[in-house]
Amino acid sequence: MRTIITIFIVSLICFEMQGQSSNPPIVSKDYKSWTTSSELNKWLLKMVEIYSVEMRLFRGNKEVDMPVVVIPAVQDNPMSVMIIAEQHGDEPSGMESCNLLISELLNGELPTWTDSIEWIIVPMVNADGHDNKSRKKENGADLNRDHLILSQPETRYVHYMYNRYMPDVFIDMHEYPFESGTAEQPLEKRIQQQIGCVTNLNLIDAELDAVAHQFVLPHVAQAMAKSKVSFSEYIIGSGQTGQNVRQSTVDIDDARQGIGAMGRSFSFIMEGLNGKNRNDSIYYRTQAQFKCLISLTEACYLKSEIIKKRVQENRDNAIFNAPSKVSIQMDHFVPKDSYKELSLKVPYHNIKSDRDTILDLTSVYLSDVRTIKSLELPIGYWISKKDDRLLDWIQAHEAGIFPFSNANKKIEKEVSDNSFLECIVALPEWQTMKLEGMSVPSWKPEWIEMKMPSTKDYIFISTQTLNGLRWSMALEPESMFSLARYPEFEYLRYQYPILRVTSR
Ligand SMILES: [Zn+2]
Repeated sequence: MRTIITIFIVSLICFEMQGQSSNPPIVSKDYKSWTTSSELNKWLLKMVEIYSVEMRLFRGNKEVDMPVVVIPAVQDNPMSVMIIAEQHGDEPSGMESCNLLISELLNGELPTWTDSIEWIIVPMVNADGHDNKSRKKENGADLNRDHLILSQPETRYVHYMYNRYMPDVFIDMHEYPFESGTAEQPLEKRIQQQIGCVTNLNLIDAELDAVAHQFVLPHVAQAMAKSKVSFSEYIIGSGQTGQNVRQSTVDIDDARQGIGAMGRSFSFIMEGLNGKNRNDSIYYRTQAQFKCLISLTEACYLKSEIIKKRVQENRDNAIFNAPSKVSIQMDHFVPKDSYKELSLKVPYHNIKSDRDTILDLTSVYLSDVRTIKSLELPIGYWISKKDDRLLDWIQAHEAGIFPFSNANKKIEKEVSDNSFLECIVALPEWQTMKLEGMSVPSWKPEWIEMKMPSTKDYIFISTQTLNGLRWSMALEPESMFSLARYPEFEYLRYQYPILRVTSR
């Protein structure tokens, strides 16, 4: 009798301890304050101890301490889902909902998903910004504007992990600013959760776009309605002034386009509504993000066969059947044809009258993304081996995937046999125009034909790879994504050590 009682007590204590430590920090703190970066690290290390078999914890590299949780699937050939959160350090609810998800997965509360989904979860990309309560890193870098140039160790490590796992689904979690109503502008937007799809014209896949718009978004909308969380497809720009109301920047620099879509994943951005201040509505913001994340993942899981198939086809096509054209300048427009017009009605709350209201923004909705400038996709580019900065940039994008030199022997041969080279000989002074609020070079480079350079002095990068469109968007001098518009690559404005290769 005595023995039995003792055993009972001991197991009760064990259960209690496990229950406590497996709770995410925000739950243990009863949602009184956000999880700090050190609490996150401690908790994840504890989770490794408890659940050593099901979970792998990567801690970054020598340059950055960034926890990445990988939970392998039990079954073969799983759908893989990568989630990153808090690139912006003042948008913490995505990080907390990642932790809730990790906890539920490891506690066995989502058995179907641990069986058949491989998870790669990065709860806190910007620990620096999180601890300083700021959007940017302490050095001033905005990580979600760094996915093209990869100037920061955080973005480099996220790309490295992406390349290593090549997920089918990619989700980037944010919060968008709460519009505090004022006497002049008394309106507060009342959408709690938003999801945005791929909008860069080079990267939209019609089949996946149809899955997103005909199944995934309606599925999430239904789930959100059930949970009484207001939801809409991602809309940015001010409803009060009617300016720049659109679904996306087509900027390659953000993670939705610059990692997920570029890697041909089924890619999304999620935006929860931020609070009136940092600690406003911690519980509600976290729960709304979590519910939205769960329903988004659920919708993808229900379509996993078609998503996996199409993602693989698109990756193969990038290498073996590359597109013939690349858009290098794009912008947003109100559609000219009324049949293309998307009705846009957004719920607001008027703080003066204390009434809910709907703004009809259809007439200012820049729903149409159009190409301003495009060109035939070149075969590739020769890059001078002396340009350390460019070589470092190429290697950062190739880290974790097969090296370009081995993958493209066949194409290199083709290049040397059949094509000619063009070289910019004169770049007029740097002039800029604005597209999407970004400075874009308006120079008119001149090109001449030249002999193939010695492979001793140059390396060849092919556009017939997963990174092919990225190379053209970044290396074409007239591109709105041109490296030359970044201070780090300013020298490219004065001499352009990049040779374009086109077929005869
Ligand atoms: Zn953000």
